[in-house]
Amino acid sequence: MKKTELMYEGKAKRVYATDTDGICIVDYKDDATAFNGAKKGTIVGKGVVNNRMSNRIMRMLEKHDIPTHLIEELSERETAVVRVSIVPVEVIVRNIAAGSLSKRLGIEEGTKLPSVVLEYCYKNDALDDPMINDSHAIAMGLATKEDLDTISAYALKIDEILIDFFAKLGIELVDFKIEFGKKPDGTIILADEISPDTCRLWDSITHEKLDKDRFRRDMGGVEDAYQEVMRRLTGE
Ligand code: UDP
Repeated sequence: MKKTELMYEGKAKRVYATDTDGICIVDYKDDATAFNGAKKGTIVGKGVVNNRMSNRIMRMLEKHDIPTHLIEELSERETAVVRVSIVPVEVIVRNIAAGSLSKRLGIEEGTKLPSVVLEYCYKNDALDDPMINDSHAIAMGLATKEDLDTISAYALKIDEILIDFFAKLGIELVDFKIEFGKKPDGTIILADEISPDTCRLWDSITHEKLDKDRFRRDMGGVEDAYQEVMRRLTGE
């Protein structure tokens, strides 16, 4: 399989078409952005960590009957994935209050939420990814009612699986963002990535942040945090 043209370049990844029908290659970069691109930087080695971590997690989720876009890891930074059209809805799942939820609702960061919170945002940089609900998504034609039923059920199941998975690594899963894609036959599958860029991960004992908040909040130790998550994942 060979890369052909660059289809899309995002903040953290490039997506290439390939000479094989229905397959793309994702190439993970070290570029980091926050606050909708207002803050820019580099996290050395991030692309490698995110590629390998996302693939391990997706492989694991597949074993729990969550369909994903993952086909095959090709190199440190490159992975072959199923070509999908991304549903333009960011799905956020929260177990502990943090970030925008804490700010918006005045719930102190670190407060355990008595029940899981599921949020949708419209994927639109020009509008700053505004939060929407099911009826907005349906009215705007972003997804059908059936798509959202599938997506929410997968999101909650993924949360349960990941809470357990990270707990075994001494990590609390605070919240995360996932995206889904639609195959030409209409099937919904998990796409994009699951990494310290897209999850809040806190050490279970010290509550030290092991994720992109270290970059967002200029806390230092960003590279080390990504490597620490990778080290726990691989047991190296
Ligand atoms: N998140 C993400 N991409 C975004 C916005 C949020 O991956 O464009 C992730 C973020 O890393 C966190 C979760 O979604 O794990 C919830 O983020 P929040 O809404 O609190 O926004 P933030 O504080 O990151 O702006």
